[in-house]
Amino acid sequence: MSQPEPQPDAALPELAAHPKVELWQGDTPLEQLNNLGPCLGITLWAKRDDCNGLAMGGNKVRQLEYYLGRGAAEGADTVLITGAVQSNFVRLAAAAARRLGWQPEVQLEDRVPKDDPFYRASGNFLLDQLLGTRIHRFPQGENEAAADRNLDEIAARLRSEGRRPYVIHLGLDHPPTGGLGYVEAACETRRQLQRMGREPSHVVIPSGSGLTHAGFLVGARALGWRVPVLGICVRRDAAQQHPRVLRRAREIAGLLGTGLEIAEQDVIVDDSVLAPGYGQINEQTRTAIRLAAETEALLLDPVYSGRCMAGLLHFVEQGRIPKGSEVLFVHTGGTPAIFAYQSDLAPPAIDSAAG
Ligand SMILES: *Cc1c(COP(=O)(O)O)cnc(C)c1O
Repeated sequence: MSQPEPQPDAALPELAAHPKVELWQGDTPLEQLNNLGPCLGITLWAKRDDCNGLAMGGNKVRQLEYYLGRGAAEGADTVLITGAVQSNFVRLAAAAARRLGWQPEVQLEDRVPKDDPFYRASGNFLLDQLLGTRIHRFPQGENEAAADRNLDEIAARLRSEGRRPYVIHLGLDHPPTGGLGYVEAACETRRQLQRMGREPSHVVIPSGSGLTHAGFLVGARALGWRVPVLGICVRRDAAQQHPRVLRRAREIAGLLGTGLEIAEQDVIVDDSVLAPGYGQINEQTRTAIRLAAETEALLLDPVYSGRCMAGLLHFVEQGRIPKGSEVLFVHTGGTPAIFAYQSDLAPPAIDSAAG
């Protein structure tokens, strides 16, 4: 196997030009999955971004460090964000606001057709309430532009009351600031791998808004790390997701300002495990969640990390990730959503068996 260029301290000093607030400290663990890997015929590593230290953690903590860094530079005293009822981003934005001593305001969209009482009251939603978040309802689901417009109206109202909200929008017409957090995550991961002398052949990562996927890809390429970054579609199909991630990656590269170019073929997305759609569990995801829990006590959620693992299992089954490969799975969190999907995950037999 060819060795990487010796780069003992993979880092991108350009990141320091962007304002950042610190919401946690240290590196998240990079763990070898010694049961699940052999079970799949591969060497498997997990980057545990579910373990960063803010309010049950997850990938949005890294994104928020850069969004709220900009907010702090603008003198914000409030975070305003929009998301699904079980959004991890909303929960973590509210948590970050509390850490900084700001007020959390959130707009919750009806994005997932689920009337289940656990979905509507537990998981992230319960945590939003514990955090004392002010909740604004938005009845529409898959309409980013309308959700953003309504968000701007709420922001205008808050400003008229003398508040200074920092608004985190959904749409592509706003800068991908949070993607810088995954540029940084790629550097951190690369450093950890280099210290262990490891060189994975594939990275597998969920692809939703695309900032995690695009940010990691840009970070890797900016370091000269050529590993394929396989994005598992969790929200849109591959035909919609590919141009979105490409655009976001080019914008993030632009923010970083190294002159890095991202080629179309560098963006890889796959939607084989997406059906029936965002936030709706399927059999492959259920299998992936059980397998990770039973082999590694690795807890994955139905919307993102479980679906991403389902995508990884699919790639191995199809031979797109060949046996013997060394694979890095990026665990992006989502842990509280497990409780919101109780009806989909808990075997109903427990009650009757106990009786
Ligand atoms: C939001 C989220 C993702 C997707 O990240 P994007 O940057 O939106 O693509 C993946 N996993 C979890 C747990 C998330 O909350």
